[in-house]
Amino acid sequence: MKNAFETKKQPIIRILISGLVILVACLLVCFTLVAALKRSYEKVMENYLYEVHGSVTSVINDIVESTDNIAYSCAVKITDHKYTLDEERIQNVLGMVEGTGYKFNIKYYSKTGIVYTSTKAYGSREATEKWIEYASEFPKLSSKPYINVYQDKSTTTLVIVRAVIKSSNLKGYVVVEVDLDGVFSNTAFDSVLKNGELFIIDKDGDTLYKSNQGSNIVNGYDNLYKSLDKYCVKTKELNKKMKKEILSQYEGYLQYTTTKGYKMQVAYTPLSVMNDAGIVTCFKENYVGQAVQPAIYRSTLSCIVIMALMISIILYVWSSAKNANMAIEKMAYEDSVTKGKNINYFKEFSNYVMSVYKETPFVIYRFDISNFRYINEAYGHKRADEVLSACINIFADIFSDKELCVRMNADQFLAIIVNDKYVQQKMDQLLIRVNEQARGYGIKYPIKFKTGIYQIRKHDHDIDIMIDHANVARKSLSGDEKDSTMVYSEKIVNDMRKIDKIESEMQHALASGEFKVYIQPKWDIGSNTICGGEALVRWIKPDGTMVYPDEFIPIFENNGFIEKLDYFMLEKVCESMRQAMNERRAIYPLSVNQSRVFLHSPDYVENVSKIIKNYDIPAGYVELEITETVFDDEKNQMINTLHTLRKVGLRFAMDDFGSGYSSLNILKEIPFDIIKIDKEFFSESVTGDNTRWILQKIIEMVNGLGKELVCEGVETKEQSDMLSGMGCRVVQGYYYSKPIELQTYIDTYCKVYT
Ligand code: C2E
Ligand code: MG
Ligand code: MG
Repeated sequence: MKNAFETKKQPIIRILISGLVILVACLLVCFTLVAALKRSYEKVMENYLYEVHGSVTSVINDIVESTDNIAYSCAVKITDHKYTLDEERIQNVLGMVEGTGYKFNIKYYSKTGIVYTSTKAYGSREATEKWIEYASEFPKLSSKPYINVYQDKSTTTLVIVRAVIKSSNLKGYVVVEVDLDGVFSNTAFDSVLKNGELFIIDKDGDTLYKSNQGSNIVNGYDNLYKSLDKYCVKTKELNKKMKKEILSQYEGYLQYTTTKGYKMQVAYTPLSVMNDAGIVTCFKENYVGQAVQPAIYRSTLSCIVIMALMISIILYVWSSAKNANMAIEKMAYEDSVTKGKNINYFKEFSNYVMSVYKETPFVIYRFDISNFRYINEAYGHKRADEVLSACINIFADIFSDKELCVRMNADQFLAIIVNDKYVQQKMDQLLIRVNEQARGYGIKYPIKFKTGIYQIRKHDHDIDIMIDHANVARKSLSGDEKDSTMVYSEKIVNDMRKIDKIESEMQHALASGEFKVYIQPKWDIGSNTICGGEALVRWIKPDGTMVYPDEFIPIFENNGFIEKLDYFMLEKVCESMRQAMNERRAIYPLSVNQSRVFLHSPDYVENVSKIIKNYDIPAGYVELEITETVFDDEKNQMINTLHTLRKVGLRFAMDDFGSGYSSLNILKEIPFDIIKIDKEFFSESVTGDNTRWILQKIIEMVNGLGKELVCEGVETKEQSDMLSGMGCRVVQGYYYSKPIELQTYIDTYCKVYT
């Protein structure tokens, strides 16, 4: 399940958003580019069309001009003063110009209704009609040509008329007719005629000529402006502009929008020789668009391909980043054994919950599984790892989203928990369920947690320090306590400091002989003589202060140094005993305390045997005192150890019987030679009837089992008498002797035989 903290951590989304922003930016750039490209293509196209229009216009203007020149020069020649205006003269002049330039017909219409060609002269009705038509234009015709274009279904004819005036009298007209269709076959017209239309219009827009080769685009009326009105939208201003400019002898270029929404290009130029007339070219609707379209399509396609490529790259980068992120996150935040979170995650999570839930009291739990090493060795790593995973999974099940438990390393766990009234209940539940699950895996060994707790205070901010505090509290537990939970306090810190000091000094202390052997004699009450002794360690500091074993033995048991110390004590005892024997002194059995921790060590039997053999100690003179807790684990193996060591002459004493939870089974099952009854048990028995009775029975039982009995901590004569009365022969206690230096013991009790 994802908690609020995890939802907060979404850097990948940021990458995706950045990618999308880049993509949108690229899209905008692409579209702008395509639009710019389109515009520039259109511009190029417009220029091209304008050029086409220009060349068409110049061809028409040329023809009109040169044709007019012919008509004019004929008119001038006919009226030459040197000659009389007779039929021959007229036909000669007409004949002179025929066959020059374009294909044209030249005629002379006389006032008298005779039509002259270069070869013949005839009267005709047509001539009379034309005369009337031209006469209406006469005032202008006196100095300018009359120009018109006639178009029927098959031909287009340009007609240019010049008046022949002699002595201010109108004599006739020179009429030149040019077949324009021949002219339009000129390649300069191709582009216009195929992709558009060509118009020659008069001052009102009436079409004098309209190309009919291409598709009829602007169609419908004989007037161009009307046709444009029908075919296009919003034409009023445009038409007005075109008309005005043609009449003012300006050329121009306009863009009309057709009713279908396409653009249509219209170019116009005034026809230079023909007053008020103009040449107009209209390019097919969307012609420019069509020309531009392929290029635009190509550009758009390229953009789409680039975009698709970019999207793929972004998606690829995103998915790779996502995967990489997940892998990194996994590496950075996951515990490989339990598949839960790790310490890095824990720290970030803790900081997060503490900052978000400021008013919620939190505690740090730092716990491990007591004797986890045993589970590992006895049931294998796989099973042990399953127990670790169970701790994480069950925790997640029991606790809320605000709380988290991670494995730090080995069997070390770290949890941040809301410090409410249910904490203990929930932790108990966790332990119960972990045990249930472990039993399901076949693990019979009871799982216990050793927990250090740190209560987070408002001003705390460094999570590392909080974890350290919880760890200090945890480390202050030796593991043997019934209550395996410790809350961090100043006292613990001081204790820990002491421990640190001891640990920093112990190696040097052993090497430099600061550890001394003291012997406390054991006393035979019956004969009132010494019958043995117990070796007890004392740490004499260089300044002479004496440190008692209770202060350092538990620490050494925790850190393993006890192994060295116990071998040292055993060796010293054996060495002094050997020396005493060599000095022909009386010797008594001496017992040496053995820590339960190192008795399990694989070299133990060999090392102890070696020492005993080395000093050639007679059988029964060295006893090893061990407490019953030694048999908590692997009882059978321990019994074997005892049997083996017995063969080298060692005897075994069960120390502190009656303290803690002594089991009578131990007496039955373990091959002890001596039972030492604990001083605490014993001191109470003086006053309490019940305990006195129990003590009596224990003494009887031990005697009955044929084992030796030693009562420890005898401090008074009454105690000694009472024990004696109960059948106890051997005692040890301050009443008889305090522990004394080894040398003092030898000097006092181990007399030299004489
Ligand atoms: P323990 O083996 O039960 O040793 C007996 C303790 O009782 C000794 O304390 C001794 O001084 C004390 N004692 C003897 N008679 C009396 C008495 O009349 N009244 C009172 N109140 N106490 C008395 P000590 O020497 O301080 O040793 C404490 C414990 O430290 C020992 O208990 C033993 O478990 C451990 N220890 C001492 N030396 C060694 C050692 O060399 N190796 C190991 N592993 N443990 C040691
Ligand atoms: Mg002892
Ligand atoms: Mg004892």
